[in-house]
Amino acid sequence: MDNQLEQVTPHFKLRELQCKCGCGRMDIDPDFLRRLEDLRVAYGRPMIINSGYRCPEYNNRVSTTGLDGPHTIGAVDVRCSGHEAHLLLHMAMIVGFSGIGVKQHGPHSGRFLHLDNLTTHDNPRPWVWTY
Ligand SMILES: [Zn+2]
Repeated sequence: MDNQLEQVTPHFKLRELQCKCGCGRMDIDPDFLRRLEDLRVAYGRPMIINSGYRCPEYNNRVSTTGLDGPHTIGAVDVRCSGHEAHLLLHMAMIVGFSGIGVKQHGPHSGRFLHLDNLTTHDNPRPWVWTY
């Protein structure tokens, strides 16, 4: 991909948010991207995106949410733990993320917060869950 260094928002490059299956797609909802950028500014420090956009086929392979899960629309998993997770969770709620998945057990390198803003029948919001 020639455009992986392209800025999708002032703080996030295409390569940070595009599908990791090799397809290179990045079809995250623009409203979600604006909110993600707002969160990055409010948080005030780097955010490592473990998972951003996933194409439907890839999401179906790696997630129980199937062909139309949150990551095929607008969701990120942000690597964080401990104090940073506390701060990011606080800021995410202020900025208005309404779907928050918490993985904060096991090795610190594997801990993350999932953030989305979906409001479908299958995804009641606001909602917090754990992995
Ligand atoms: Zn893909």
